[in-house]
Amino acid sequence: MHEVGLMQSALELAEEQARSRGATRIHRITLRVGRLAGVEPEALAFAFDVVTAGTMAEGAALQIESVPVVCSCGRCGKEFAPQDFVFACPGCGALSRDVRAGQELELTSLEVSDDGD
Ligand SMILES: [Zn+2]
Repeated sequence: MHEVGLMQSALELAEEQARSRGATRIHRITLRVGRLAGVEPEALAFAFDVVTAGTMAEGAALQIESVPVVCSCGRCGKEFAPQDFVFACPGCGALSRDVRAGQELELTSLEVSDDGD
């Protein structure tokens, strides 16, 4: 399950950012996940619980923003959101391989605090 590896990287990045803000606890992590990123949100949520156990993000909420797929047509230049997995341009019918959005997996926001007082 490669979601665990992806989530491990996202967590490391989140911990780094939290530490640079002087925080000791992470309460919420928001990720943008493209529909084409090849990950299942449920698997990602499971992986999150696995990798955060015993870390400063243990018990934190995971928020996933799903990013729709956007293609650009090579023939007529139209940008469109393909239906299903057939990336056919609704304007001219050409098949597009130029995916502009929908492949991202990135950390977008972080809610942290320092537990001290
Ligand atoms: Zn087109």
